[in-house]
Amino acid sequence: MKRTFINKEKVQDIVKTYPTPFHLYDEKGIRENARRLNKAFSWNKGYKEYFAVKATPNPYILKILQEEGCGCDCSSYNELILSEAIGIKGEEIMFSSNDTPKEDFIKAKELGAIINLDDISHIDFLDEVAGIPKKICCRYNPGGVFKVSTDIMDNPGDAKYGFTKEQMLEGYKKLVDMGVEEFGIHSFLVSNAVTNEYYPMLARLLFELAVELRDKTGANITFINLSGGIGIPYKPDQEENDIEVIAQGVKKAYDEVLVPAGMGDVAIYTELGRYMLGPYGCVVSKVLHEKKTHKDYIGLDACAVDLMRPAMYGAYHHITVLGKEEDACNNLYDVTGSLCENNDKFAIDRKLPKIDIGDYLVIHDTGAHGYAMGYNYNGKLKSAELLLQEDGQVKMIRRAETAKDYFATFDFSDILKDIKY
Ligand SMILES: *Cc1c(COP(=O)(O)O)cnc(C)c1O
Repeated sequence: MKRTFINKEKVQDIVKTYPTPFHLYDEKGIRENARRLNKAFSWNKGYKEYFAVKATPNPYILKILQEEGCGCDCSSYNELILSEAIGIKGEEIMFSSNDTPKEDFIKAKELGAIINLDDISHIDFLDEVAGIPKKICCRYNPGGVFKVSTDIMDNPGDAKYGFTKEQMLEGYKKLVDMGVEEFGIHSFLVSNAVTNEYYPMLARLLFELAVELRDKTGANITFINLSGGIGIPYKPDQEENDIEVIAQGVKKAYDEVLVPAGMGDVAIYTELGRYMLGPYGCVVSKVLHEKKTHKDYIGLDACAVDLMRPAMYGAYHHITVLGKEEDACNNLYDVTGSLCENNDKFAIDRKLPKIDIGDYLVIHDTGAHGYAMGYNYNGKLKSAELLLQEDGQVKMIRRAETAKDYFATFDFSDILKDIKY
């Protein structure tokens, strides 16, 4: 049974100040998890996690992670200025972008971020717009399918990211000639990998490539960036990854490939998003309506604007009806939001306890790629983000949008000057 970090009494208390729906984050869970990760990789002297800002772009969350030793992985101009604003600078920023606008490279270079190139043509582009830094990384895409045992985990050959093998060789040669002194290698092949085998397999692939690139191009490779992709068990029957086992698997590949090649001082970097935040955030929503037609529908005050993953990918998010945790799940419901889109359903044919109007529902595992993906379809406003602090107090870390925010992009004109909120 999946449990949540919040209960009915606490929610009844929170809603006196902050109405539903809202995203709630668990500071204690975030910190403990970051410490587990850092401890698991402490065998590697240069290890650093660069949190993927896109997963949860909130400065309060980034600050907590910064206090736990994490940097930021950015992929856009605004993510860069967000990191800069909270005092993350220089090589504490990894800039892993693609299809990159000129302004973004200029900003990344100005901040002294480690730039991770997505394409061989970006070598000349970066040189032209900002200059080639002394330290650089390139993103590798081996093509084909990525298998763990016999299971196809993902399809890199179909992904828009990265250099081919031939381009890595050509690119590193070229960059060596351009005066680059330190290199990294990056690759992201599987998303939400709920297996302890993904990172060790990826690591071995990149370590072997690192030795080959050094031998054939003379590049001085000082770090390997395993990127994101470690998954979380969204479904109750999934077994959780064990970060200690994962880190030891990476160490085994390191000891077998890099150490004998005289590369035993290479640093390991990660750019985890989902693993860092996913389980430590939830959406809290209230039941507005029950509708019985061809199916039994529970209508919430949250909708896909607050959490898009179910609508976008058919993703499973576990749901707890607060105060009914121990009740039998004998009722079959579709749990919906209010958008004029039939995919606005948080759950389809889900067995849940009998739900009453006014019940509070918790949608689990929304701490990463949750609030961040939100949008404003149907004129819906995005909810607040709240932090359950370690001392048990709840702090607002982003206010809910208002109609004024929604109409702000017309402020250049008079057409809505008489609008009444
Ligand atoms: C999205 C992304 C991540 C984080 O992915 P998770 O699945 O959240 O771990 C890391 N690096 C890059 C370049 C990304 O695009």
